[in-house]
Order: sequence, then structure tokens, then C-alpha cells
Amino acid sequence: MSQLQCWDRIKDFDFASKFAGLEIVVIDDEEKWKSVYGSNDSKSSHNPKTIILKKEIFDRQDITDGDISWLIHEIGHIDFYNGLGENLDEYMEKYYQTGEYANSEMEQKAFEKQFQFLKSIGKTKTECVAVIENYLEKTFAENQEGEKSKERGQIMGYINMVY
Ligand SMILES: [Zn+2]
Repeated sequence: MSQLQCWDRIKDFDFASKFAGLEIVVIDDEEKWKSVYGSNDSKSSHNPKTIILKKEIFDRQDITDGDISWLIHEIGHIDFYNGLGENLDEYMEKYYQTGEYANSEMEQKAFEKQFQFLKSIGKTKTECVAVIENYLEKTFAENQEGEKSKERGQIMGYINMVY
């Protein structure tokens, strides 16, 4: 993690600094990324506990604060996985069964860290909303307005817990 070009921008955020030594996977094949990981530029895996990043977005000096905040989001996942200890596999199995992406303790923790980070670098609530709108735009197709608006509502709740 500490070898990422953007590390200097997050290392002072106490939460991130604890994960300096975490091994991450950086993928620079755009086509492969799309077919394996879809529309989002970052992922986390619980077994093994790993963060997977699209190189084009994350390993660059001029990365946006919004994109950096997604790295914090993924670190939030790893932190959550660590906290579950032996119950991790059981939690993840149940999580996948419910199919409720944002409406989960895990996503709540990850989004809270993401917004705490943005707040710590001086971003306003409106700027956080813009990061989320950008994400929703990329994630949902035009015929998914219902799902999109449900997820927006859940994530707005997490923004409101931080601001
Ligand atoms: Zn997440």
C-alpha cells in the first residue's frame, strides 16, 4: 500500500496509516478489469483479504480526492473483515444471500470511513454527494432508477452520520 503514488495523500489519515503494509493488487489491463470487475474502479476481497485497484485510476500522482476516497472505502472493508475474525466467512455468506449491497453493517463502516476521510481533508457534504452521484451514474443503467434511488438513500444516510 505505501508504494502507491497517492500514499502521501492518505498516510496522515490515522485510519489509513495503519494499513501501510497491506499488500494490494494493481491491475493495468483495462479490458480484463471491465470483464472481471465491472464498472467500479476498486474492489476488496475477503478471502484472501486484499484490495484490488485499477492502475489507471489509482496509481498516479494526480489522482482525484474522490478516487482516493474509494481507496479509503476499500481499506474500511479490510478493517471490517479483520474485526469479524473467525466469523468473517459466515458473515460474508449471509451478506451475499441478502443481496442488499449498501444496506449492511459492512458498507456502513466502509462508507463512513470514506466520508470521514473526505471531511478530514476539508471536503463539504455537497462534494461528498457529488462523489456518490458519480458512482451511482457509473454503477446503474438507465432502467435501474428504482435500485439507484434506493442506494442513494442508503448512502445519503451514511453521509448524514458523518456531517
Ligand atoms: Zn463497499
